[in-house]
Amino acid sequence: MFEPRDQIRAMSGYHSPQVDVPIRLNTNESPFAPPEEWLRQLEGIVSTIDWNRYPDRSATELRRTIAQRHGVRPEQVFVANGSNEVIQTILLAYGGAGRKVATFEPTYQMYAQIARVTGAQVVEGERQPDLTLDVAEIERVVKEHQPSVTFLCNPNNPTGLVEPEHNLRALLKIATGIVVVDEAYAEFSDWSAMELVSDDVPLAVTRTFSKTLSMAALRVGYVVAPEWIIKNLEIAALPYHLDAFKQAATIAALSFTDEMETRVATIKSERSRIQNSLRELNLEVWESGSNFILFRASGKPATEVWQSLLDQGVLVRDCSSWPRLAGCLRVTVGTSDENSAFLQAIRAAVS
Ligand SMILES: *Cc1c(COP(=O)(O)O)cnc(C)c1O
Repeated sequence: MFEPRDQIRAMSGYHSPQVDVPIRLNTNESPFAPPEEWLRQLEGIVSTIDWNRYPDRSATELRRTIAQRHGVRPEQVFVANGSNEVIQTILLAYGGAGRKVATFEPTYQMYAQIARVTGAQVVEGERQPDLTLDVAEIERVVKEHQPSVTFLCNPNNPTGLVEPEHNLRALLKIATGIVVVDEAYAEFSDWSAMELVSDDVPLAVTRTFSKTLSMAALRVGYVVAPEWIIKNLEIAALPYHLDAFKQAATIAALSFTDEMETRVATIKSERSRIQNSLRELNLEVWESGSNFILFRASGKPATEVWQSLLDQGVLVRDCSSWPRLAGCLRVTVGTSDENSAFLQAIRAAVS
């Protein structure tokens, strides 16, 4: 009687340890604070809100602002508390008991985690040993399982690899349910699925303010999709799920996107510097279209390398116990100083 549902009992939850160390390169946030001017505007916003009233339930102005940014209609936009909540809402509407949700592993763990919480069955496609994804495998999974929801992550977390456009096009041709492309790192990638969104294609593209836009603490994400998908997400979402302050703060933030996106160039050049240095240490390093790098700590056990980095004050993500990622660590690109500290620490750790 005191037991949770079977799906919950079988799971252990999502763990990304938050350790108190000087240099945290484990959760792919932006290393830069948001613009000062935005912070000043927030103070004004607090006093304009009718705090005794519920917020605009359909976040009308916020959706209009986001729609404008992508050249779509407000009816094609749904906003939530982070893109994780967007994914949860999609799976509440389209996953659930008796349905299948497809992922291509290794990929972002929350797709499978949330899908299972809704009671859906997760079917896992496999990437190649080099962690790229074959069209033939996409076709096999969709034809065999007819999933209600299929996830692609572009660029893919935790590999960092850009998902080729032809993979998405092949998937859309045979899709039996909706296709979600998670673009949490879109600004670092060389293409986006956003242009393919239209009311007659079962495609939903998610974005977040947590990474490039330097606002992980604000918890905002959104999805652009056909109106008929958005309508169902609105049914699945809680009433007033977006508070009034967040709506106004996000609208204000959207006038600073250019400023924040110029930081992408800095991160990309730091990314190359880290990749080159890791390769000089003879480590296996994957290409990256994002703000993080996956590498394999050969020679020593990855967990030992991870611990040695931690002892030197640098926290990265230990992926080595995850299926298909034996020996792998993932490092987020930080500020130039943080990256130099990481490189110095990794040299010591692997030598
Ligand atoms: C970080 C991340 C998210 C979560 O973003 P939030 O908007 O902070 O919930 C979603 N998808 C991927 C692939 C991520 O890496």
